[in-house]
Amino acid sequence: MTQPQNDTNQLPDDLIENLIRSLEHTEEEECTCDDVYAVVDQYAEAEFRGEDVQRLMPLVKQHMELCHNCCEEYEALLDILEKNDPT
Ligand SMILES: [Zn+2]
Repeated sequence: MTQPQNDTNQLPDDLIENLIRSLEHTEEEECTCDDVYAVVDQYAEAEFRGEDVQRLMPLVKQHMELCHNCCEEYEALLDILEKNDPT
């Protein structure tokens, strides 16, 4: 696994791993809107950094495709990240 070395606004890897683990534990259940709202900012940041969100948070990704509200929230966050990006 390659690690991006820019450390602007990076989430610690162990936080992401905990997140993945907590999502994996609820694999038999559908991801709820509350679950997605809890991680949507981290999801948007991961997506923004070009990480493989499909692999990192498959349930969130899946929920995003099904739930218009959560998808809008995510797109709004991504929009903010893009506007704040100095490059
Ligand atoms: Zn939702």
